[in-house]
Amino acid sequence: MKKDCIFIYSDDFQKYKFHDHHPFNQLRVKLTYDLLRTMNALDDSQIVSPRIATDDELALVHDRAYIEAVKAAGEGRLPEEIALNYGLGTEDTPMFPNMHEASALLVGSTLTAVDYVLSGKAKHALSLGGGLHHGFRGKASGFCIYNDSSVAIKYIQEKYNLRVLYVDTDAHHGDGVQWTFYDDPNVCTFSIHETGRYLFPGTGNVNERGQGKGYGFSFNIPVDAFTEDESWLDAYTQAFREIADFFRPDIILTQNGADSHYYDPLTHLSATMRIYREIPKLAHEIAHQYCEGRWIAVGGGGYDIWRVVPRAWALIWLEMTEQSNISANIPQEWIDKWQKHSPVPLPTEWDDPEDLYSPIPRKAEITEKNAQTVEKALYPIRSNRQKINL
Ligand SMILES: [Zn+2]
Repeated sequence: MKKDCIFIYSDDFQKYKFHDHHPFNQLRVKLTYDLLRTMNALDDSQIVSPRIATDDELALVHDRAYIEAVKAAGEGRLPEEIALNYGLGTEDTPMFPNMHEASALLVGSTLTAVDYVLSGKAKHALSLGGGLHHGFRGKASGFCIYNDSSVAIKYIQEKYNLRVLYVDTDAHHGDGVQWTFYDDPNVCTFSIHETGRYLFPGTGNVNERGQGKGYGFSFNIPVDAFTEDESWLDAYTQAFREIADFFRPDIILTQNGADSHYYDPLTHLSATMRIYREIPKLAHEIAHQYCEGRWIAVGGGGYDIWRVVPRAWALIWLEMTEQSNISANIPQEWIDKWQKHSPVPLPTEWDDPEDLYSPIPRKAEITEKNAQTVEKALYPIRSNRQKINL
């Protein structure tokens, strides 16, 4: 059992719950945890309870007035018309009891991961309760109340003064984190996502490159709807390698939204489990290449909580702990335990079948378009390297 990896977990993650019919469902963290436990791939000694983030920690990113509004909302004493100014009480982010405590725990989970990695107690840490990348300074957005990654990055800067590379593979643009560090040259953000033409939050254009001193430290690869594994992985691999080489980070924080899968009900990409094997593999390699292994991974989106997220997120842990050499089958014990709760048949294998979906007619066109987007996104790095070589 690898001792230098930790898995932050608490059943209290379930308290971050808008209502029974909301697509954001933290049961997926429990399903992942249970899958890994069933496989004996997660040992007691590797599980760490999250702490709750303090108000001062939240205020590294969030406005005090917003934090007070979230507290009031959770206690049922925030008038609706005021709530709306803070993005609360909307269809996406309804108010729910004790929402401040539930949200601050997710931030505390990612801060716990940071503390372990930066004190040297662990090389890698996984905080699947986190990844709430749409949270803004003074506003809730897109199922996110507090932005654990933004708070964690500010915390890393204040406490350890390190340069952070944030890599976001959620199907939605990592807008909250990008805008928080848009003018900061010591934080580099890279988001690969479905184009915002038809998808929330609509940003993440290739031309969003940062501002002021931070210009050139924000990277976006908006891929076309219906993008498949090969094209997606080609973009991800080229960009991650070149951005890491350009930025030379001290630590890497990856956001692992698992909503680019063909099955995901909220997005329009055509990825399969293949990308969820490769995403953590490359992050792991690059963390050792540039950061002496310092790698924190958080969760994120993912709305097929039965067929996609548990497999995708278990694979992050299996990669971190060098156990990815697994048998093809999902343990029957896990399937038997959860099938009765699932509205769809649970997968029996780690990989998807070859014929998961029928061929995409515009494949060549989409692949070509994505290659051009990669070229545009990486142009500043590539042209600069050419100048140096001349
Ligand atoms: Zn998403």
